[in-house]
Amino acid sequence: MIHEILPVGALQCNCSVLGDELSREAIVVDPGDDIGEIVKILQRHGLTAKMIVITHAHIDHIGGAHKLRALTGAPVYMNEDDSFLADNLTVQAGWLGVQPPENPGIDTPANEGDTLRIGSMEAHVLHTPGHTPGSISLYLPLEQKVIGGDTLFRNSIGRTDLPGGDTGKIGQSIRGKLYVLPDETVVIPGHGDSTTIGREKKLNPFVRG
Ligand SMILES: [Zn+2]
Repeated sequence: MIHEILPVGALQCNCSVLGDELSREAIVVDPGDDIGEIVKILQRHGLTAKMIVITHAHIDHIGGAHKLRALTGAPVYMNEDDSFLADNLTVQAGWLGVQPPENPGIDTPANEGDTLRIGSMEAHVLHTPGHTPGSISLYLPLEQKVIGGDTLFRNSIGRTDLPGGDTGKIGQSIRGKLYVLPDETVVIPGHGDSTTIGREKKLNPFVRG
């Protein structure tokens, strides 16, 4: 599988481009900004975007989704519990002092238990609320990777002081949905360096396994 991680925008959100080498189809996760750079990655690998997946509707993760869909035609997958955040992108843009991007809306709701497939690659949707009510993580069992959005970071967890945040729920999500994955699973967080489930279970100062 092709996997490129590109930190995008002022908040350096980790955008993932997941490509199937045979079908040349791709999933783009969290195209928050820098859509030109994301399109260049797709072109460099000869990939066609088939799905745009939003881990949660904070502006740094969703900001470029409308533009990327306009360029590629790929539908937007997101959990409906975050619609209220997508609906207030103007307010979120105000927090950052940037122009509000267009709300892409949801083409296909992403729910716990859904499996997204491109070629031989499969990504399981885990509903991991807490940072936001509709936060999801994408588990790629064959690749032993999980793309966790802003739920679990190396040595940290997502903030829960923004609208819809819930400290109890983020702990439940991490323990119940992420720490149950194999220890060697690589975590690609929404920001910063990758880690593993085993490492965070042992060393994460906020949620121990
Ligand atoms: Zn966030």
